[in-house]
Amino acid sequence: LAFEALTQKLEAVFKRLRGKGKLSEADVKQAMREIRLALLEADVNYKVVKDFVQKVTERAVGQEVMESLTPAQQVIKIVHDELVRLMGPKDTKLNFSQSKVSVFMMVGLQGSGKTTTCGKLGLYLSKMGKRPLLVAADIYRPAAIKQLQVVGEKVGLPVFTMGEQDPVAISKAALEHAFRHGNDVVIIDTAGRLHIDDELMEELERIKEAVTPNEILLVVDSMTGQDAVNVAETFHNRLHLTGLILTKLDGDTRGGAALSIKAVTGCPIKFVGVGEKLTDLEPFYPDRMASRILGMGDVLSLIEKATAAIDQEKARQLEEKIRKEEFTLEDFLEQIKQVRKMGSLDQIMSMIPGFSPQKLQGIEFNEKELVHIEAIINSMTKEERRNPSIINGSRRRRIAMGSGTSVQDVNRLLKQFEQTKKLMKQLSDLEKGRKKGRFKL
Ligand code: GDP
Repeated sequence: LAFEALTQKLEAVFKRLRGKGKLSEADVKQAMREIRLALLEADVNYKVVKDFVQKVTERAVGQEVMESLTPAQQVIKIVHDELVRLMGPKDTKLNFSQSKVSVFMMVGLQGSGKTTTCGKLGLYLSKMGKRPLLVAADIYRPAAIKQLQVVGEKVGLPVFTMGEQDPVAISKAALEHAFRHGNDVVIIDTAGRLHIDDELMEELERIKEAVTPNEILLVVDSMTGQDAVNVAETFHNRLHLTGLILTKLDGDTRGGAALSIKAVTGCPIKFVGVGEKLTDLEPFYPDRMASRILGMGDVLSLIEKATAAIDQEKARQLEEKIRKEEFTLEDFLEQIKQVRKMGSLDQIMSMIPGFSPQKLQGIEFNEKELVHIEAIINSMTKEERRNPSIINGSRRRRIAMGSGTSVQDVNRLLKQFEQTKKLMKQLSDLEKGRKKGRFKL
């Protein structure tokens, strides 16, 4: 999982702080030393770390924090704020031409995910109502043109190719082609190399000169840590990038690139790649990323995902029930079905604060179990479903018999139900806290 080690270390630091009640300056300084180390181990640029720790320390040893009733929470909030500042501000806007065909030039090293990202961005833009044309201008890597064609086909977008001609000529011709065929944006897949070299940079400069792009987006692999940051710096110096796209944030990247690339280059992270599928591109939200890194889970993304999959009215009713603590086993069954529509359960759970994959074991469901659960719940009386606390030993035996399961199955289900109930309450409290602008940890 991305940032896993960093998150675990930060969580440990905060746990110790929370255990202390009142904090002394020495406590805060100790915590900062640990945070510093955790960031360095996550491959964050050392200058960025130094700056970061200094800022957090300055704010955290202030009287306001030390004398507050919840000093640990205050420190966490400061760390969160500064992480957001480090990666932000949010800047996901793309610049389009009003009157002409817009030009998006995609640059990056080989293997960074550039070609895939061209397809992802094309799909993203077409969902925005644009009519993109993909342009194959990587003429050196043998399979690059073919690869872009495959990607284009998958996302249902046209691909402009001219074989192995001069990339500048290809780019110009592509603009013409787009204009004549009603495409309002071209996405140019330029050549990458294994390493940055002068020839590559010169070619990119010539393309830039010839087609004056509205966006020059560098695609970088977040798994490469500080190398990604160096690559970004070099490209930015030569080409004046308008934005960065960090790929492979779904992998087990330590976090160094995501945390330092904006601070070092001054160039905003506009999007992140979060998987190999062509739908796996997301606008970059620094605050969500910070929450995720701090182990606060990505509640916002989770809620967005949930809203996309879940019937709004049902969701509202459910929220009401959770709030009033009237969540019943019937709702539970309904909820399991809904949740399964959102994707795999461990994917969803990983976004919930304080949830490590180990904790998942108690509440994992598969199709077969789902059938059992349904049978068990159906064998209960109305009253039992509404108020499971009345389900004693003899009721458990009756329910097991009636549903063709065992008492252990019934026990397990009741336990899962209690856990889920607790989890949902946590989630709803957290969301309330967020709305009020404070964090509940
Ligand atoms: P290019 O050489 O820069 O054009 O890179 P490709 O587009 O060919 O991508 C290289 C590899 O990275 C391919 O296997 C992609 O499927 C994979 N890839 C690209 N973006 C992502 C991402 O966000 N997450 C994951 N897991 N893999 C990615």
